[in-house]
Amino acid sequence: MFYCSHCQKYYPEDTHLWRCNCGTPFSYLYSEQLSFPKEKIKVRDNTIWRYWEALTGVNKENITSLGEGMTPLIPALLEGRKILFKLEFISPTGSFKDRGTSFFISKLKGRNITRVIEDSSGNAGASLAAYCAYSGIKCEIYVPEYTSAGKLLQIEMYGAKIKKISGSREDTSIAAIQAAREHYYASHNWNPYFLQGIKTIAFEIWEQLLWQVPDNIIVPAGQGSLVLGCHLGFNELKTAGEIKKVPRIFAVQAANCAPLYQAFYHGLSDPVKIEKKETMAEGISSAFPIRGREVLSVIRESNGEIIAVEEKEIVNSLPKVIKLGFYIEPTSAVATAGLAQLFSKNIIKETESTVVILTGSGLKATDKIGKLTQAQTGNKDDSLFDNTSLKI
Ligand SMILES: [Zn+2]
Repeated sequence: MFYCSHCQKYYPEDTHLWRCNCGTPFSYLYSEQLSFPKEKIKVRDNTIWRYWEALTGVNKENITSLGEGMTPLIPALLEGRKILFKLEFISPTGSFKDRGTSFFISKLKGRNITRVIEDSSGNAGASLAAYCAYSGIKCEIYVPEYTSAGKLLQIEMYGAKIKKISGSREDTSIAAIQAAREHYYASHNWNPYFLQGIKTIAFEIWEQLLWQVPDNIIVPAGQGSLVLGCHLGFNELKTAGEIKKVPRIFAVQAANCAPLYQAFYHGLSDPVKIEKKETMAEGISSAFPIRGREVLSVIRESNGEIIAVEEKEIVNSLPKVIKLGFYIEPTSAVATAGLAQLFSKNIIKETESTVVILTGSGLKATDKIGKLTQAQTGNKDDSLFDNTSLKI
């Protein structure tokens, strides 16, 4: 069942609406009591579906999995301190989004949906295109006309149809929503199914730490789906009596596009309207976080914080992480740059256990990483270090 927390109104899951009439995104409600039978979980396949008793509303024959989940949790030394990296960048399409898409498409298969529309040229679009390809669902991705061919290649190769829309990013969303009057709008930001898959990252961290939770989780945040997924997963574990405390969640934004940070800093409940500047952390460049109010609320509830990092800090952190052997995209380096800040301000203490989620693969961002390398060796474009004139 879908639910609007603003109007406190319930909707059937087969509603033609993709959000409540009041404009609020739906939540996904279920009445089943979730359980985590450890002996069964331990011997199941290494996918998100090993937590079967906590993934409600899907029939087994509709499970659509490309082997997402059970990504390694690896110790590393960063900024002189021991932490744990969760390697989401080795997911089937190169990002953590595959967790959400696997649940999402499994649900849609059960509803006999054969064609979907989405507006994303990034990791979510690639993930949706891959799972649609695997399950035989037709997929159309709406993108702004100015989107580079390189960014679209992965999506196109999976066989999705690309529709280029002139005008702004918002015009693209409007066109996708209009088209969705006839076909299913599979928006990973609006649709509540997506977070059901993302929450499995919390279950996995708990299992990999031998049924314990860390003190802190650090994630990059744009729309904040990873924040919400972590919060949901850890709280479900707590409700089921498996853990006593929930980790503090720290969300890190790029200062050039930080509506959540601005709201958190000023003690507000809703994201602040901002003038977005270009950032190399393209995956979290969201000026209007749809579930922003919820993100702010759960961060506060976890006793965590939202912080922001400058482009220089991202540039500084990315090669440090890659040189440890983790080939990540610049968006993931927002989290590691944030960690450096949290260490230096002593918000996170040396004795605490901390997991940093490395969200996306550097193999998708070859051009950007190449430009950074040129700038760092000092023979090309210094403007990369200048926040106001960043050109990617
Ligand atoms: Zn409503």
